[in-house]
Amino acid sequence: MYADCIVPLPLEGVFTYNIPTHLTHLVQVGCRVNVPFGQKKQYAALVTRLHDEKPVYDTKDILTVLEESVMLLPHQLKLWQWVAEYYMCTLGEVYKAAIPSGLKEKDGVVMYRPRTVDFVRLTKDFFDPIRLNALLASLKVARKQQHLLMRYIELTGVNAALTLQNATLVKEITKEEILKASGCTGSILKALCDRGVLEEYEVVVDRIPTSSIPSDLLLPSLSEAQQNAKQAIETEWEKKDVCLLHGVTASGKTEIYIHLINDALKSGKQVLFLLPEIVLTSQLTDRLKKVFGDRLGVYHSRYTDAERVEVYRKQVSDNPYDILIGVRSSVLLPFKNLGLVIVDEEHETSFKQAEPAPRYHARNVALMMAHMAKAKVVLGTATPSLETYNNALQGKYGYVSLTTRYGNVCLPEIEVVDIAELKRKKLMTGMFSPLLLKEMREALERKEQVILFQNRRGFAPMLECQVCGWVPQCPHCDVSLTHHKRSNRLVCHYCSYVQEIPQRCPQCEAEKLSCKGYGTERIEDELTMLFPEAKLMRMDLDTTRSRASYEGIVKGFQRGDADILIGTQMVVKGLDFRRVSVVGILNASTMLNQPDFRSYERAFQMMTQVAGRAGRSANASISRRGRVVLQVHDAKQSTVQQVVRGDYKAMFAEQIEERKLFNYPPLCRLVEVYMKHKDEAVLEHMAEELARTLRMVFGQRVLGPDMPAIARVQTMYIRKVCLKIELEASLTEVRRRLREIQTFLLGKAEYKAAQMYYDVD
Ligand code: ADP
Ligand code: ZN
Ligand code: ZN
Repeated sequence: MYADCIVPLPLEGVFTYNIPTHLTHLVQVGCRVNVPFGQKKQYAALVTRLHDEKPVYDTKDILTVLEESVMLLPHQLKLWQWVAEYYMCTLGEVYKAAIPSGLKEKDGVVMYRPRTVDFVRLTKDFFDPIRLNALLASLKVARKQQHLLMRYIELTGVNAALTLQNATLVKEITKEEILKASGCTGSILKALCDRGVLEEYEVVVDRIPTSSIPSDLLLPSLSEAQQNAKQAIETEWEKKDVCLLHGVTASGKTEIYIHLINDALKSGKQVLFLLPEIVLTSQLTDRLKKVFGDRLGVYHSRYTDAERVEVYRKQVSDNPYDILIGVRSSVLLPFKNLGLVIVDEEHETSFKQAEPAPRYHARNVALMMAHMAKAKVVLGTATPSLETYNNALQGKYGYVSLTTRYGNVCLPEIEVVDIAELKRKKLMTGMFSPLLLKEMREALERKEQVILFQNRRGFAPMLECQVCGWVPQCPHCDVSLTHHKRSNRLVCHYCSYVQEIPQRCPQCEAEKLSCKGYGTERIEDELTMLFPEAKLMRMDLDTTRSRASYEGIVKGFQRGDADILIGTQMVVKGLDFRRVSVVGILNASTMLNQPDFRSYERAFQMMTQVAGRAGRSANASISRRGRVVLQVHDAKQSTVQQVVRGDYKAMFAEQIEERKLFNYPPLCRLVEVYMKHKDEAVLEHMAEELARTLRMVFGQRVLGPDMPAIARVQTMYIRKVCLKIELEASLTEVRRRLREIQTFLLGKAEYKAAQMYYDVD
C-alpha cells in the first residue's frame, strides 16, 4: 500500500510513500506522518490518498504515524486544493501557511504543550482547624500573608468545609483571582507556599468548566434598525448564500453578528468570524466572550505557536470551538460543521496575503469555504470593496444597509483643510493646521480624547543632505532608509536592514543632514512641545510588536490613560473608543498618491474608517458631534469630497467608470506574473522574453514588462507582467498556459537562477 502525502515545502504536487506493514492499521487519509525527504531531512507530512499504484520511482517508507486522529479534514483538503489552483501556488505552500509550525516539524508532538492556568489551594497538612488557626495567629507579624490567607479562607469556604470535614467543598480559585482579591503580590503568595500552607497547581484550560448561563440572557437587545437589518439578512439568505451588510461606522454591526451567531449555534452549527490581521481582536473578543464564554476560540497572528497548535488540535477533536474568531489564516483551519461565516471589515487589504505564497485573499477563500460547506456568509463593512459592492449590484449577493449609528448618534462632521495653501502662507505648525490645533485644544479642555492618524512609522521617511541632496538608501532594496529617532538608527522597512545615522554626508562631507517628511515618532515629538500637559500614546508597528503591548495601548487608551493617540493604519480598524471626539488625518494626500489602481478606493475607505472613530457613542460626557479634521494638499479632489459627504455611491460610480475605461478588476481578472533575479540584465532579458511569449498566447491582454514600485528587495531585482483576463474566460486554461510558459522559461540554462510567481486578483 502507498500513501500520497503533502510535504511542507514549496514543491509541486504530492509525494508517494510506502506504508510499512506494521503501520497499515494506523495510516489513514488526513493523518500526520513522519517521512524522510532528500538525503537526511524529515518532515511531518499529511496523507491525502491511500492506494496500491506503484510509482515509477523508488518509494521510501513512512517512518512513524504522529497521532491517531485525523488532522486534515476531507473538505479542508478540497479547499486547500482550490487555493493552490486559484492562487497558482503549490499545495505544500498552502500547508505551510495553514498549519502552525509546531505541527510541521517531525518532533511536533513533543513541542505541543497544552495551555494551563495556575490555581492555588490549601495543603492537606493545613486542612485542620487547630493547625490553621495556630498558623493564622502566628502570622500577626506577617500582616500581608495573614491577609491573603484570610481572603483565601473567605472566598473558598474553607471554614464550612472544615466543619463538615469534607475537603472537596473547598472552592477552586486561580492564582490570579486570589492575588487580585487580596491585593497582594506574588511574593506574598510564594511565602505562604514556602511555609507549606498553600500550594499552586496547574489545570489544563479545557478542563475549566464552561459557563452555564444560557447565552440568550446575555444577548444585547437590538435596536429597531438593527432588528430590521438582521431580518433583512435572513430574508436575503433564503435566496442567496452571501449577504453584504453595508452599515455606517458605529451602526452596531457587531451586535447583529452576535445575534446571527447565536442562531447558528442554536441550530448546532459552527461559526467562523474573520477579522483583519492588525486588529488584535481584544475589544471584539471581550464583547463576544461575555456572551459565548468558552465556546469561543481565538486564532490570531500574535498568538504563540503553542497557542495556535492548541486551537488547531481542538478544531479536529470531538469538542471543537463552536465559534472561532480569527485572522486571515484561520480560513485554512479545520471545521467539522460550519454553518456561518462572518467577514468583518471585508474591504480590508490585510485579508490579502502579499508575501509569501499562497497570495490568497481570505475573504474570497472564506466565500469558497462557505460554498463547499453550504454555509451562509455575511460580509460587513461601512466601506465595501468595489468587488463586493459590484457583486451586490449584480444581484450575486444580497444587500442590506444600515444608515444610522446606534443610539442615533450623528456621524462626525468632516472639515477639510488645504495644507498646500497654508504651507505657502507659512501658517502650518509642523504638520498641524490652525484648525486642527484649535479642535484639539478644545477637546482636551473638555477632557475628551483625540486620535491622530499618520500612515508612516518612524521619525522621518528620509534623511537628506542639505548641500548635495544625498539620501541614505538601503543597500539591498530600492528604497530610502527611514530615520528612527528613539533607537537612533536608519531602518529599511522592506528588509529590516539597520545602520547608524552618519554624522556627515558621505558624499560631500557636509554636516547638514536634515529630516524630510513626518513619521509617527516625529508627530509625537511635536505634540510634546505643542501640548506639554497632554498624555500621549503611540500605536504603530514599533510600539506593538507583542500582543501584550498592543492590548496595553488599546485598553489603556480606552481607560483614559492618555489624551491623544497617534497611530498608523492600526488605529483605523474597527476600534471602538467612546471618549474620542476629535480625529485628525494629518496628510491624506499620501494615501491618494499611491501607484495602484485601487488607491482612490483605498484612500476613501481609510479616511472614512479613521473618521468613523470619532464621536461614536451617545455618552453624556461627550458634549457634541464628533469632529474630523482632514488635512490634504488638494481640498477639491473628488475622493476627498466624497469622504466629506459620506457618499459611497459617488465614489463607487466614479471608480467603476475608471476601471471600465482602463479595464481593471472587478471588470476583469488580473494575474500579475513576477520574476526575480540577482542579476538585473538577465532579469530584463527574461522579462522581455516572457512578455513576448505571453503576447503570442494572450495578445492584447498582456501589459508590460515593467518595474513594480519597489523594483529591488533584499538584493533581488523584480519585474512584472500583468495579464488582464475577461471574466467569462476559463481560468483553468489560463493557468495551464502560464504553467507551460513557466516550465519553458525556467528550463532555459540562462534563467535557471530566476524565480517566478503569481499574484491573482
Ligand atoms: P460598527 O461595528 O458598526 O462600527 P459597533 O458594533 O462597534 O459598530 O457599535 C458601536 C457602539 O454602539 C458600540 O460601543 C456598541 O457597544 C454600541 N451598540 C451597538 N448596538 C448596541 C445595542 N443593541 N445595545 C447596546 N449597545 C449597542
Ligand atoms: Zn552632501
Ligand atoms: Zn532593505
